[in-house]
Amino acid sequence: AKAESRQKFKLYAPAMSEQLQLRLELERELQQAIANDELFLMFQPQIELQSGRIYAIEALVRWMHPQRGLIPPNVFIPIAETSQLISDISGWVLEASLQTLAALRRKYPDLYVSVNISAPDLLTPDRLHQQIQRLLHQYNLPGNALELELTESIFIEHPARVSATLESWQQQGIRLAIDDFGTGFSSLSYLLDLPLDTLKIDRTFVKNVHTNGRTKGIVETILSLSKNLAVTCVAEGVEELAQLNCLSELGCYAVQGFFLASPMVEHQLMEFLAEYDAD
Ligand code: C2E
Ligand code: CA
Ligand code: CA
Ligand code: CA
Repeated sequence: AKAESRQKFKLYAPAMSEQLQLRLELERELQQAIANDELFLMFQPQIELQSGRIYAIEALVRWMHPQRGLIPPNVFIPIAETSQLISDISGWVLEASLQTLAALRRKYPDLYVSVNISAPDLLTPDRLHQQIQRLLHQYNLPGNALELELTESIFIEHPARVSATLESWQQQGIRLAIDDFGTGFSSLSYLLDLPLDTLKIDRTFVKNVHTNGRTKGIVETILSLSKNLAVTCVAEGVEELAQLNCLSELGCYAVQGFFLASPMVEHQLMEFLAEYDAD
């Protein structure tokens, strides 16, 4: 019966767009990716501007496909999000992130890891919650060793459902960040009800902060908002010294970007941190 349905699939395939077909293939292959050990993480440092200290790392997932090569998260995370695979992937990312962090904290005891969480994960939060408990316990880590990065759309679409979950995480010390801040909001009122620790200024603002007065104005507004909310502000996608200088002048707390450090695999990160320490 399986061969037969494959046959049928082939028969109708020409009518299907190439893109849709690729998507279906990737979805099928992604189901095996964890079991086949094809996912891996890269880590990008977050640097406090005043001290130059690396205080956190963001975990960024990649898929090394045996035939297609390296597939970036922008391609496969959206597929995972619409096909129930995201929960397994988020679980894998959390486990791998905390495992690496536990190793790093022997030398850098205050470092924490920031992990990207998808909207569907928060709609069924129990599984995620249990997983986080188990992993923190397993690696003997406090709640504040972990930050979860969420995008604004989650709060706007499901405010009540999400805020109870976030409250319980906050009580454990787990940090919460809003990712890509400024790109998706329709209202700022949701910020008042959330137990937030960090706002991450989207890199579309960082790109022109030093050349465009209006962009600079938006960044200033986000910085003063974060001051009023008593949350930390991180600027993403810093690629040039001029951007760094501008953000520093404006009083931004921290930066992340290629100019300072690109995402690295664990052993590269260890070397980077050791050398960074020495300077
Ligand atoms: P994001 O969370 O906004 O992550 C930042 C992205 O910007 C990363 O791309 C990073 O490599 C890239 N980046 C860092 N510095 C610079 C810079 O100076 N300039 C530019 N142009 N880019 C920079 P990446 O790793 O390809 O990830 C893309 C997106 O995929 C992430 O955006 C995030 O939304 C998603 N993603 C990545 N890893 C995960 C994950 O483990 N789980 C989930 N749910 N989503 C993930
Ligand atoms: Ca992120
Ligand atoms: Ca971001
Ligand atoms: Ca994003």
